[in-house]
Amino acid sequence: MALFKRDDVDIEGGWKAGQPVPYAALTKAFSLIEATTKRLEKNAILTSFLLLIIQRSAKGDYNSLLQAVYLCINRLSPDYVGIELGIGESLLIKAIGESTGRSLSLIKADLKKEGDLGLVAMNSKNSQKTLFKPKPLTVPFVFTHLREIALASGHSSQAKKVSIITKLLAACQDFEAKYIVRSLEGKLRIGNAERSVLVALAQAAVLAEEERSGKKWSQDQLATRLEEGTNIIKSVYSELPTYDKVIPALLEFGIDGLREHCKLSPGVPLKPMLAKPTKAIGEVLDRFENKHFTCEYKYDGERAQVHKTEDGTVSVFSRNSEDMSKKYPDLVDQLPKCIKESTKSFVFDAEAVAIDRTTGKLMPFQELSRRKRKDVKVEDIQVRVCLFAFDLLYLNGQPLLHQSLQRRRELLREHFTPVQGEFDFAKSSDGETTEEIQSFLEESVKDGCEGLMVKMLDTDASFYEPSRRSVNWLKLKKDYLAGVGDSLDLVVVGAYYGKGKRTNVYGAFLLACYDSDSEVYQTICKIGTGFTEEVLQTHYDTLKPLETSNPRGDIKVGGAKPDIWFEPKVVWEVLTADLSMSPIYTAAQGLVDERGISLRFPRYLRIRDDKSAEDATGPEQIAEMYERQALAQNGGGKKKKGA
Ligand code: ATP
Repeated sequence: MALFKRDDVDIEGGWKAGQPVPYAALTKAFSLIEATTKRLEKNAILTSFLLLIIQRSAKGDYNSLLQAVYLCINRLSPDYVGIELGIGESLLIKAIGESTGRSLSLIKADLKKEGDLGLVAMNSKNSQKTLFKPKPLTVPFVFTHLREIALASGHSSQAKKVSIITKLLAACQDFEAKYIVRSLEGKLRIGNAERSVLVALAQAAVLAEEERSGKKWSQDQLATRLEEGTNIIKSVYSELPTYDKVIPALLEFGIDGLREHCKLSPGVPLKPMLAKPTKAIGEVLDRFENKHFTCEYKYDGERAQVHKTEDGTVSVFSRNSEDMSKKYPDLVDQLPKCIKESTKSFVFDAEAVAIDRTTGKLMPFQELSRRKRKDVKVEDIQVRVCLFAFDLLYLNGQPLLHQSLQRRRELLREHFTPVQGEFDFAKSSDGETTEEIQSFLEESVKDGCEGLMVKMLDTDASFYEPSRRSVNWLKLKKDYLAGVGDSLDLVVVGAYYGKGKRTNVYGAFLLACYDSDSEVYQTICKIGTGFTEEVLQTHYDTLKPLETSNPRGDIKVGGAKPDIWFEPKVVWEVLTADLSMSPIYTAAQGLVDERGISLRFPRYLRIRDDKSAEDATGPEQIAEMYERQALAQNGGGKKKKGA
């Protein structure tokens, strides 16, 4: 397993036990990981590097491992704290110029050639003659300064950022400039997804455990323990997704102590459970045959995970674990009225929906998306919002993830009270025949919803599965019945100049899906329909600052040739008539066929600013949709219970 050797860190100045982790050691690990495409090798390098950190950290030092892990996933805090990098190209070019003395035009020309600003920074640094060797960078030093950059705000913040970046770059040697610049850009591009970092962390902890035991374990013993350790860490992290808590607990209590010390806690949002699309009621019945299931209205709003801690703090988190309490101060104000006295602390899952208070009618999602994301004042709010709670995940000190949905629902109804126009329980029907489902679906659409969510109701198949797109939750949208099964959430990576009326804005766009395994965006289609002129202008204003001179290195372009490229940041929801094989686009290449998959007649629906680029639809989902479509065209799909 040890592909990252001690020699690799015996760099000048050394790295002795108890000393801070040298940044050179981390970037050496990054360069080894980047150099191989083999997943197992990537994993082994990271595991042995993290093991070295555990071995060399002084007792009680949790920060060395914590900061190294954060740098590996290119984050500076848990998601919900929201300290983010993502520094623009022009600011970085300026800092590279200042720290190396090279002209901006030379740097830009190199960028055009290389397509990777990290590489340009490294080459610029390494071709520079320096009289004195700078003091080696350490992980805590880099981590602290990256946080300072991310937190800089106010009118002189740009100058402050350039000055810190210049200082960091001045001290860089070897690979360091490459990875510092990529970290600042917000994309490490070493092909190592967060999931793999979690696995490497688990494996390093198991190897450290073997070492502490003083015995050499047999291959079988080791394999069993590695699997066990990985499962424990994954499940603990899915309940409490913050390394700030998991890493200190892991180092203090070991893998076996994790479950006891790291449980779902109000205040720390967990990644929501997601649903699989279905195209027909018959499919629902196939899946849930002879099982108890329930149908709920699928409200058309924004996911809201609501937390109340023992000290009374109420927070509302988005689907992406972003703290939305400042977007929804009215929700925070409304909540106390619907909480019964016996309810001291909780986490519930809900949909926040725009509502017309006079008629009581639900309004579409677009009404909510007009709200600012921050600093909303209750007195300025035009559109009111009602919460529809559909799940209870934690109550009065107890996580409920491993209770049946039936039980969670009972507890939800016992401990909260509906308040008209402000809070209600998701409307549900436990009818199980095609006719009952069909009529409930029609009712939901009439009431302004998107369709139904069909959920397993009892047995362990109904447990809440954080962050999983589970077959135990199916979504049945009215649009699906005619389309390919689901809309897609795609990232805008390029644009084409407009013609006629559209000359001052972009006329069409290049979209991509996101492969979280390889951390690569794969192009999927050109889209030019579904936009009003007003929408095109808004898109122009949002996308213009994201223009880059070349496709970023993590975009697998294929044969697409847009006029302009963008930083992959903006996500749109798109409908399509069907999917087809494509010699041009790269989406899902190799999954169904050597060719990629493309969308035919794609139509723009809306911006998804509650999703980040990494949450875009993945190639496996696209391949799955393609295969279902092929099956349907070949007359597949059984019909049940009179469907
Ligand atoms: P996905 O990642 O599954 O595509 P999405 O955010 O794009 O999610 P949909 O595909 O439309 O949304 O469906 C799932 C979403 O439906 C949930 O994330 C939630 O916001 C919303 N929703 C509305 N009503 C319910 C309900 N009763 N139960 C669960 N989710 C619901």
